Amino acid sequence: MGRGQYSRRMHTPQGVTEGPSVIGVDIGGTNVKLGRYRPGARELEGFRSLPTGAGRPHEAVLGDLAAAIRELALEGGSAPAGLGVGIPATLSRDGRVEVLPNFAPGWRGVAVADWLTEATGLPAVIINDARAFTLAEARAGAAADVDSAFGVTLGTGVGGGLVLGGRLHLGYSGNAGEFGHHVFDPHGPRCGCGSHGCVETYASAPALVASLMRPFVQGMVPALVRLADGRLDAVTPALIARAAEEGDPICREALDRVALVLGVALANVTTLVSVERIVIGGGMAGLGETLLTPLRRTLAAHAPTAGDRLPEVVPASLGAQAGSLGAALHAADALGPT
Ligand SMILES: [Zn+2]
Repeated sequence: MGRGQYSRRMHTPQGVTEGPSVIGVDIGGTNVKLGRYRPGARELEGFRSLPTGAGRPHEAVLGDLAAAIRELALEGGSAPAGLGVGIPATLSRDGRVEVLPNFAPGWRGVAVADWLTEATGLPAVIINDARAFTLAEARAGAAADVDSAFGVTLGTGVGGGLVLGGRLHLGYSGNAGEFGHHVFDPHGPRCGCGSHGCVETYASAPALVASLMRPFVQGMVPALVRLADGRLDAVTPALIARAAEEGDPICREALDRVALVLGVALANVTTLVSVERIVIGGGMAGLGETLLTPLRRTLAAHAPTAGDRLPEVVPASLGAQAGSLGAALHAADALGPT
């Protein structure tokens, strides 16, 4: 691939161009999603999903993915110029997996991009999945009309990313924006990353559900017990929010605690980097105003230097494509010269 030629075509103004496409991949704990990005487009072509099978060795997961990439690369005319891969991991400076929760052991040290290049022949770039989500929402989604944005993903884990001037800020470590693992309380619960009291230990879906286990078993949350048909394993953040909306005070308190942690944490982000918009995505973003209203209140109360320039907090707008679109956008940035 001629790098200069690629870059000139990538930076055309509005609308889809005939320039080289890039494949974007989002490796999730449950599904792998992928599609083809054409410069200027806001949606991926040929978007598809396959089960990750995250309990399998990494060779099996990446082998299936490589087959899906080769299949997609054969569709749609010209060959893609490269490949961007989002993964829910922290990464070393040279793109090796460091921590990858919820997958089988054996991923540490794996150079996923090199592995996929070898298997597909396409130049590949790897990026943390929440950073990819943020880049997509900042370029083509809920923050496309502003210059600076912070993205947060709320699900099994908590992720984040920072976009300044339309570009991802990855920092000296390459992992800047790691919102879920900044410490809320150093005396707090042990986190999967090895630290204590990270935002993720309070604000992830499992943390919210776990906070209601004892009240559930002791019959203190009758609305939630009814909504879950008495089954503790059926409790989800969505059911907790419904019980709260029906007036259950303990479920309301549990949600307010999550909103408090997120609000204070995002107030700290605001004090430190002061972005114009904060975009909330991931499964728990589906709780909507039940979560966002108290979050905004807390954020406003704890960002004293923001003045009247508080960030607007909005739900994500790109849906299931955000991660793979962001990975493709990052690859397009990285593969062309800056
Ligand atoms: Zn942590």
